[in-house]
Amino acid sequence: MGKIRQIAIYGKGGIGKSTTTQNLTAGLAEAGKRIMVVGCDPKADSTRLLLGTLAQRTVLDTLRETGDDVELKGITRVGFGGICCVESGGPEPGVGCAGRGIITSIGLLEQLGAYTDDLDYVFYDVLGDVVCGGFAMPIREGKAKEIYIVASGEMMALYAANNIAKGVAKFARTGGARLGGIICNSRNVDRETELLRAFSKELGTRLIYFVPRDNIVQRAEINRKTVIEYAPQTRQADEYRKLAAAIDGNDMFTIPKPMTQERLEKILLEYGLMDSISDDYRI
Ligand code: ADP
Ligand code: MG
Repeated sequence: MGKIRQIAIYGKGGIGKSTTTQNLTAGLAEAGKRIMVVGCDPKADSTRLLLGTLAQRTVLDTLRETGDDVELKGITRVGFGGICCVESGGPEPGVGCAGRGIITSIGLLEQLGAYTDDLDYVFYDVLGDVVCGGFAMPIREGKAKEIYIVASGEMMALYAANNIAKGVAKFARTGGARLGGIICNSRNVDRETELLRAFSKELGTRLIYFVPRDNIVQRAEINRKTVIEYAPQTRQADEYRKLAAAIDGNDMFTIPKPMTQERLEKILLEYGLMDSISDDYRI
């Protein structure tokens, strides 16, 4: 089991974690890698582009319906490129800690022998931030040793990324988690590449890949497919293949050095972002 690369993807809600994870794993699958994707968001939309379905039944749903007598094939489904897909799910809205679903799911997957030796990668697509203990689970327990943060040049995305880096730094000591880099999922902000490079450097990591914004992503999504499957010949599909290759070949793993709010704002100012933000808020 030691040779499986277990990777957690974090980032602000709506930044593009699920889209990016599914496209990049589709790219890895195309290159012959064997992968499991574990959705760790109560929205349970981490695998629908790989499966071509609206939503798959979650581990927690299955447990609620069938009790503890669950089989592996009851909680996994095979998607694009043979990718094994799992959705943790969450509690009934307003009841209990959503993070618990992740703990339950990973425990069950282990117990049922889902982490087979033939796997090259396990990806955890984790909601929001690592503040809640449950969402930190994949890295806290040392399951995912490798973390990527999806961000963009937007201020809130960078605030969130810095906060996530704080969580990663904290769990680096106990769980051995390391940051593999920042993935920019572009929002077409001015000087976005430079800003993300400067931000990543300040964090003690690097911008591992810049994914352009492209409407083909939404078109593929409406058709419930990754871009890799829906439009394999397009430039955007190639971008995801290159992201996949960058992660496959990555050998730079660091303990991040989160920055102070002041330092972060200084970087934003330097790249002119604070000005554009204040424009956004003007009535
Ligand atoms: P998250 O999982 O972080 O909450 P999603 O992956 O669900 O975010 O993405 C949010 C929305 O952004 C989706 O509707 C998706 O189609 C869109 N999106 C993500 N990445 C891109 C991109 N590179 N270009 C265009 N749209 C994108
Ligand atoms: Mg998501």
